[in-house]
Amino acid sequence: MTQQDTVRREVSVDLDVCEASGVCARMVREVFRLDDDDVLTIAHQPDTDELDRRVAVAVRRCPKQALSLH
Ligand code: SF4
Repeated sequence: MTQQDTVRREVSVDLDVCEASGVCARMVREVFRLDDDDVLTIAHQPDTDELDRRVAVAVRRCPKQALSLH
């Protein structure tokens, strides 16, 4: 299986739960960004195994459990 064939997981945020602490944005700047209004945005879906792993750690460390991988 080549890297292109790998099925990637997508990450999403529940903005009703997110407290904009920025924990995830500090851990994976490529993916999570706080915009000028302190609203978390997903700037980029994980497209490598390394990013997928780092996002999975960030999902577990979110203090509000606002992130999910699917
Ligand atoms: S770590 Fe969780 S609560 Fe903090 S900004 Fe990210 S999604 Fe929101």
